[in-house]
Amino acid sequence: MIQVHQVSFSYDELSVLEKVSFRVERGEFVFLVGPSGSGKTTLLRLLYADLLPVAGDLSVIGQKLATLDKVSLPYFRQKIGLVFQDFKFLVDKTIQENLALPQKLVGMAPRVAKENVNKLLHQIGLSHHQHARPTEISSNERRRLAIARAVINNPVLLLADAPTEGLDVRLSLEVMALLDALNFQGMTIFVATSDRELAEKCNKRIIELRDGGIH
Ligand code: ADP
Ligand code: MG
Repeated sequence: MIQVHQVSFSYDELSVLEKVSFRVERGEFVFLVGPSGSGKTTLLRLLYADLLPVAGDLSVIGQKLATLDKVSLPYFRQKIGLVFQDFKFLVDKTIQENLALPQKLVGMAPRVAKENVNKLLHQIGLSHHQHARPTEISSNERRRLAIARAVINNPVLLLADAPTEGLDVRLSLEVMALLDALNFQGMTIFVATSDRELAEKCNKRIIELRDGGIH
């Protein structure tokens, strides 16, 4: 599902990743842990081809990222669910509209899209908030909404960047339970977090990013 081979990346002079290699198999649930500034977000951006490596190869969902072009990039991205550290919601749209939009973009029939939205809203416990705006719900609810939006088009791979940031232990575990349920349905889950303790509680595979390398 993910193959990273000898990947290096720098922002101008600042070297962030040095010859990083690892693999994630289909159906796995993996935590990428590392302190703030260790390069987790950078590595995720490389995985969905938002950044290009300085050296090395990445292959994600069977796609060699070096061979992606303008035409194939959107098709590749459609297969990946992204949970951003800073949400990136449409703040002037309702929660229902935020969830419906990704489906509209892939040409889903409005009636089917609405059914999917209602089902997912129910699953994340936000049905009663469907007409609220993302700024009008709690941070825990926003984290769940971010996950719901990422998975509404049923991606094979979910990349989640700090999906429990700002939540206490109980709420963090609730978010993890939601991710676990998605993994149980067959989705490959890759979660970046600086919360090693939380990752350890979840009994999943952990890879650690430190000093530019995987440990
Ligand atoms: P993490 O997600 O683990 O906190 P990041 O990948 O965001 O780490 O950042 C890794 C390093 O790269 C940090 O030193 C950060 O300041 C730097 N960095 C991140 N994004 C940029 C950018 N767009 N331009 C320059 N430096 C960046
Ligand atoms: Mg980050």
